[in-house]
Amino acid sequence: MSYDEGNIFARILRGEIPCKKIFENEEAFVFHDIRPQAPIHAIIIPKGAYQNAYEFYKEATPQELQGFAEAIVKVIDLLGLKEYGYRMITNHGLHGGQEVPHFHVHLLGGRPLGRMVAASD
Ligand code: AMP
Repeated sequence: MSYDEGNIFARILRGEIPCKKIFENEEAFVFHDIRPQAPIHAIIIPKGAYQNAYEFYKEATPQELQGFAEAIVKVIDLLGLKEYGYRMITNHGLHGGQEVPHFHVHLLGGRPLGRMVAASD
């Protein structure tokens, strides 16, 4: 399946719909999740058109990989998550429960999150 240019995160990247931006560099964009699952819930996305983690880590350039990693570190600092920790999640496909087909990492924190996110039907 090819990348859907109309997905919601592609539209956020093009500035077509608003978001609560946290950080941006050449390769990545970070904003607050619209339905936060924790006191802090950020979404980190690459600017490139990758559908999921597999595609991104397989096909991204070294510059894209580095920029994405730098954005993660920067946002952990900006949101003050380093001391008490956080959880990072990425969902891929049907079994992963992925809703938006643009690769993204959820960064959650601000309270103890338990041992693992519960699966829901
Ligand atoms: P996933 O199930 O991993 O694809 O997660 C998609 C996430 O995108 C969900 O946590 C949604 O709450 C979030 N989301 C959907 N639309 C928006 C939006 N317009 N702005 C910010 N987050 C959004």
